[in-house]
Amino acid sequence: MHRINVAVDGPSGVGKSSICTRIADHYGMIHLDTGAMYRCVALSIKRQDIALDDLKAIEKLCDTIDIEFDNGKVLLNKEDVTKAIKMNDISNFTSKIAALPVVREKMVALQQKVTKGKNFIVDGRDIGTTVLPDAEVKIYLSASPKARAQRRYNEYMEKGIESDYEIIYQDIVARDYQDSHRAVSPLRKAEDAIEIDTSDMTIDEVEEAVEDIIDKAL
Ligand code: C5P
Repeated sequence: MHRINVAVDGPSGVGKSSICTRIADHYGMIHLDTGAMYRCVALSIKRQDIALDDLKAIEKLCDTIDIEFDNGKVLLNKEDVTKAIKMNDISNFTSKIAALPVVREKMVALQQKVTKGKNFIVDGRDIGTTVLPDAEVKIYLSASPKARAQRRYNEYMEKGIESDYEIIYQDIVARDYQDSHRAVSPLRKAEDAIEIDTSDMTIDEVEEAVEDIIDKAL
């Protein structure tokens, strides 16, 4: 079997992470969750109380940050931050810092370096357009904001994170706007990506549809 890279893009809460985890297991690929990388940068900026216009300090932070993925856990400088980076205030803050060109430059370079050897499934907002424009498979997952809010609410419940559906819904609408209207690498479907509207699909059905596409490419 030859090694390929799979790019998966789509808006907040569409289920990219869950689908990619399953696909990675199925094919023995490595899943790179780029959203978690931006979230780690956001958490670090917040903890170090760096102002958003202090671009020198932000650049330094991006150069020295240590992010690892370990068995479904996200480690920031060796600390397990899996839950901390999913909190609502961090989600909103992440959209803000992800719009800074210096942060995008550093994260995109890191993502390109890591995935050079192929066999990665990478999820985010700009993977098919910017990070891996030559990916062998490009998928764009979409779903209505209501369907996405419900899924994220269910995910939080399963993980034992307290949450409120209405707040999640409003956050998703606000983040969609922010992510698709920023100047650098806005959320956009790559021209050669295959779109799957998952609003009325179960996770099993989405997995099957994605695997059909990957099987054809392999
Ligand atoms: O995918 P997730 O919801 O965890 O991503 C969190 C935030 O990180 C997004 O709302 C977006 O602002 C940013 N992001 C990005 N580019 C990516 C992945 C995530 O700008 N490739």
